[in-house]
Amino acid sequence: MTRVYGVLGYPVSHSLSPIMHQAAFEARGLDALYTPFEVPPRDLGAVLRGLHAAGIDGLNVTIPHKERIVRALGRRAVVDPVAKAVGAVNTLVRTANGFACHNTDVVGFRQVLAKELRVDCRGKRILLLGAGGAAKAVAWVLVHARPARISVANRTKSRADALRRWMQRHAPGVRVEIVPFERRALGRAVQEAELLVNTTSLGLRKSDPLPVEASALRKGMAVADLVYRSPTTALVRAARRRGALAVDGLPMLVYQGAESFRLWWGRPAPVEAMRRAVERAAKGV
Ligand code: NAP
Repeated sequence: MTRVYGVLGYPVSHSLSPIMHQAAFEARGLDALYTPFEVPPRDLGAVLRGLHAAGIDGLNVTIPHKERIVRALGRRAVVDPVAKAVGAVNTLVRTANGFACHNTDVVGFRQVLAKELRVDCRGKRILLLGAGGAAKAVAWVLVHARPARISVANRTKSRADALRRWMQRHAPGVRVEIVPFERRALGRAVQEAELLVNTTSLGLRKSDPLPVEASALRKGMAVADLVYRSPTTALVRAARRRGALAVDGLPMLVYQGAESFRLWWGRPAPVEAMRRAVERAAKGV
């Protein structure tokens, strides 16, 4: 019987997940479909009950539902410990009574560090921009990688403070400091950093300013931008021009999707087919 998967979001039309997962199913010769579901937050619980009753096999979850899904599932949720700690879920796997909840952004970001940037964070100084949902998944990876120091900068300082407290609760030995989200302080922090991670949404729109001054970027540092744009983001372009090793959000999208695939099918995903499909779609080909 054809297995059915999908992504829940609001809006959801921008999501590249349907193209990426359909390509994965085809590459592996699987009899399965993947479809977007545009669901307003007020309908989330009812839609989840309906999709489970209809026999859906698995789901991805995107903005704005990642932090709400567990509550919407109620007692039908079995939440994996990392997703619970991060407070966000992006993958659901069908169980007899409900769904098992996972956060594959954590694995996705870890793979970006290991496979794209080849950075070992041990003893490194890291600058983390942003303090939203994606920042928490990134921070989970960073605090467990034994860095020398993590500096956090966010437009809304109270969110940076909350993220710092959360990081110190989960990894009490890690040094975390707050940097004001303003040009001069950020410039200094970039100069001191060996790894810069942008988890703000700056760069999504062509008119967005760079989150940091280009002149502070340099050879020898690594830059991970979670934002993706075709052909790449302004931050990644600027970092590469200055000699830094830089990667945009596309590989992380692919790796988190590959981990969802693994959870659903119990075998490794066809990562290269997924990457090619997403690159083609992002280019509008
Ligand atoms: P979120 O929870 O809404 O957080 C947004 C972050 O961006 C906050 O830190 C926010 O700061 C900051 N921000 C927004 N507009 C800004 C501006 N004009 N100037 C400075 N900072 C600004 O969103 P999220 O889920 O963390 O996602 C953040 C980005 O990561 C999005 O672009 C998303 O597409 C991307 N992402 C990519 C992947 C991937 O697989 N590549 C995975 C997850 C997320 P305030 O706190 O001050 O509002």
